Amino acid sequence: WTSDTIAVVTGANRGIGFEIAHQLALHGLTVILTSRDTGVGEEAAKVLQEGGLNVMFHQLDIVDPSSIEAFTEWVKEKYGGIDILVNNAGVNSNAGSDNSMEGAEKVIGTNYFGTKNITKAIIPLMRPSDAGARIVNVSSRLGRLNGRRNKISKSTKVHHFCSFIKLEDDESISEELIDEMVNTFLEQVKDGTWTEGGWPQVFTDYSLSKLAVNTYTRLMARIFSERPEGHKLYINCYCPGWVKTAMTGWAGHVTPEEGADTGVWLALLPDQCISGKFFSERREIHF
Ligand code: NDP
Repeated sequence: WTSDTIAVVTGANRGIGFEIAHQLALHGLTVILTSRDTGVGEEAAKVLQEGGLNVMFHQLDIVDPSSIEAFTEWVKEKYGGIDILVNNAGVNSNAGSDNSMEGAEKVIGTNYFGTKNITKAIIPLMRPSDAGARIVNVSSRLGRLNGRRNKISKSTKVHHFCSFIKLEDDESISEELIDEMVNTFLEQVKDGTWTEGGWPQVFTDYSLSKLAVNTYTRLMARIFSERPEGHKLYINCYCPGWVKTAMTGWAGHVTPEEGADTGVWLALLPDQCISGKFFSERREIHF
């Protein structure tokens, strides 16, 4: 890897995103550290620049279309394109079994719709290369189907979606289906019926947002697989573990450095065409 390789990391002013930016820069890449807040983002970039690393800052709020547009215009003008996108930016609204409309909209809006919007805006800027361009989505085990803590009831409406997104061949997954799933949840939060919907029982909005990100990863991998040689784009997602960051109130088991590791590994995988998979601790796990 050289400084000609350009990587963009979202939500990189702190936590796991900051560490992903740090580790990618240590590998010799040029890293565009982005943050929705310019002041804290510039400060974070400065820390890495002062360590001699090749890090640039640009403002990017993944839920703000004008911010996304300004960012992509800047990238086009300054670099012509990029090679790696790490979708790290995310929020968690509540720690319990309650779901407010405001919280649910924010979490689904950022973690799923925001990730999707920046991904779509960046895809045309991904540069052709022999190794293939890369997208890494920072997701969570909480978004796994039938995960230990979030078993999804088979008797309820949500099973309709899950019966599709469980299919091995991924052929039945569509963007409309994922959107319909999260929008159904949001409607049920709004009319107060979500507890009957069979949704994940803990961190419901967060878990669902990450289920949507995981499913979107599978969908995009299928779409990207049709790209011709030389224009390949590989997309994967991973769970960083329970990490000591602001999101967990610094109560996690692992450090942000450890939480960043699998994301950096996926971003820099040698030419081996892994795509549409979910990882933890550098190992593939089931969706
Ligand atoms: P932090 O809360 O420390 O960092 C989240 C980052 O995302 C911040 O930089 C935040 O910016 C940014 N962000 C939030 N909304 C937006 C937005 N609209 N546009 C741009 N940036 C935004 O949490 P973590 O480092 O722990 O989380 C990073 C990722 O890892 C998230 O996707 C999270 O879901 C995931 N994850 C974390 C786990 C953990 O145990 N910590 C476990 C599993 C997954 P700001 O500083 O302005 O708020």
